[in-house]
Amino acid sequence: MDYAITPPESVSVEIAGETKRFPVRRVFCVGRNYIAHIREMGGDERDPPFYFTKPADAIVPTGSAIDYPPLTSNLHYECELVVAIGKGGKDIPESAALDHIYGYAVGLDMTRRDVQIALREKGRPWDMGKAFDQSAPIGAIHPVAAVGHVLTGPIWLKVNGETKQDSVLELMIWNVQETIANLSGYVELAPGDLIYTGTPDGVGPVVAGDVMHGHIDGLSDIEITVR
Ligand code: MN
Repeated sequence: MDYAITPPESVSVEIAGETKRFPVRRVFCVGRNYIAHIREMGGDERDPPFYFTKPADAIVPTGSAIDYPPLTSNLHYECELVVAIGKGGKDIPESAALDHIYGYAVGLDMTRRDVQIALREKGRPWDMGKAFDQSAPIGAIHPVAAVGHVLTGPIWLKVNGETKQDSVLELMIWNVQETIANLSGYVELAPGDLIYTGTPDGVGPVVAGDVMHGHIDGLSDIEITVR
């Protein structure tokens, strides 16, 4: 193929224990998926799941420093379970949803909270609050073949060693199977898609110099510095 400009490099994520990498196709995110986070942000606790997306090149590997983004003064962390899709499909039934998962990782849905809320109040798309450069840090993906399914257990995040988020995956309103079933009704999921499954309560701001450390039992931790 002869391109007029240099084509972008493909985005991929480290796989724990393997030299092969996981190629990223699309990044989907679930909004408002834990009751306590809805209560801290305001919102309907009985709403069906809804989604936003980030560009694949917003992915940042664990161990990196991210730049404090421009045009915000309220950059928030959101620690989330990330599902990596290995087998595509549309209208996937809940009973088959787990068969479509390649593995799991810990991710951070970085958010310009001030921009997101201003857009939300005007009924406008969230993109510039959510889908900016370096807004999707992620840890190593752990294959289901190695660790099984990661659907329960603690999820927490510390900033500079201080616990900020401390919850369990069981408190998701829409669990992983329900999310895959619902999302695959809107779009045909494809191998390489990532789904950030929403954050528990305790979100808050970070500033330059802060170190974020996210954890889910059974997965390797994520550590990201803000500069
Ligand atoms: Mn989120």
